[in-house]
Amino acid sequence: MNHSPYAFSEAYASAMDAKDPLAHFRSRFHFPKVKEKDALYFCGNSLGLQPKTAAAYVDKELAAWATRGVDGYFHGEDPWYSVRKKSKPVLAELLGALPVEVVAMNYLSVNLHLLMVSFYRPTASRYKILVEAGAFPSDQYMLETQIKFHGLDPQEVLVELQPRPGEYTLRTEDILAEIKKQGSALALVNMAGIQYYTGQLFNIQAITQAAHEVGALAGFDLAHAAGNVLLHLHDWDVDFAAWCSYKYLNSGPGNVSGIFVHERFATRADLPRFAGWWGHKEEERFKMEKGFQPMIGADGWQLACSNVLSLAVHQASLDLFQEAGMPALRKKSEQLTGYLEYLIELLGGKSEILEIITPKNPEERGCQLSLLIHKGGKAVFEEWYSQGVVGDWRNPNVIRLAPTPLYTSFMDVFRFGQILEKSLEKFR
Ligand SMILES: *Cc1c(COP(=O)(O)O)cnc(C)c1O
Repeated sequence: MNHSPYAFSEAYASAMDAKDPLAHFRSRFHFPKVKEKDALYFCGNSLGLQPKTAAAYVDKELAAWATRGVDGYFHGEDPWYSVRKKSKPVLAELLGALPVEVVAMNYLSVNLHLLMVSFYRPTASRYKILVEAGAFPSDQYMLETQIKFHGLDPQEVLVELQPRPGEYTLRTEDILAEIKKQGSALALVNMAGIQYYTGQLFNIQAITQAAHEVGALAGFDLAHAAGNVLLHLHDWDVDFAAWCSYKYLNSGPGNVSGIFVHERFATRADLPRFAGWWGHKEEERFKMEKGFQPMIGADGWQLACSNVLSLAVHQASLDLFQEAGMPALRKKSEQLTGYLEYLIELLGGKSEILEIITPKNPEERGCQLSLLIHKGGKAVFEEWYSQGVVGDWRNPNVIRLAPTPLYTSFMDVFRFGQILEKSLEKFR
């Protein structure tokens, strides 16, 4: 009895690709090679692939610089002075935000710090921060040092949520219960949108609502969520968020981050912040006068003049997202990841070599599946890599595979299934 919509066959995979309306996007990316063959690339969770248009977008800005010099700031097709405006409509769509609520700037870890300056304001009675245990290291270091910056003790401030014994991911009911329990002591919920290690997508809306009910704020690190799942930050009433653009947003290694600040803070010039001239009122900026007056919305958190070359690559990718549309991408993503899950369970389910720890419910995950390796350790990962599978290994014992819908085919997933089947023989 097999009621699964999936099948472990080449015919099935090629039929799925044939009817995939997004299949043509694959040819618009450069694929890295492993042993001179296109990789089976499942690592968009770490570094997305390069859009073939990226070079042309950058060349255009290099040409503008070459021909205009400093005049490029105010002249030409896309004057650099207000280049930040260009990415706003697509970012707003991807994050479920108003254009005024988002801006591309800095790096993710930098932005997390800047947002904490404004939104973590501990008092004698309300100072706790709720975070999932095992958060990404940069987030952990950020929280630790922000807490110390306020003269407080991370041990007393941080509430780190652990899964129940024997479980790998958090239950929403437990997160909400903990928020309630912390009550008036809770200043901030600061969690990932999608947990980098387990691939769990948290219920951002319910968590935000629970935080607000006890008088706390809710901010999210969307490094693994932006460009991966549908987000409605404005409607969910999220206070603030930040993400990076080099994972699912395919904008290149170390490229620009982005922030979301809810509209209700758009004109809150009174919020503490670390300012720079690029966050100062645009019309007044070149008066070079004393007295910081923040721009309205997320723009008011900018510090420095925009990195035009970086933003050009970012835009090349955002334009592809715009063209494909996030709802269609998400639909394909659920099928693609469902197919990967089916093959792993079919071929490896009883092997006792590996186990999927990412939630089974598609609403509680993005495209990534995290595989806990019980036998063989990193050698399993290396064996797959030698066959052309690019995923990533995360200590202590997880392999992450992320079939991203923009450039991954069902055939890629099928081919991985073939490699998996053979490799399991070796590690049994
Ligand atoms: C990838 C990632 C980062 C990386 O931060 P950078 O400042 O871009 O180096 C931070 N936090 C999380 C949760 C991540 O997944």
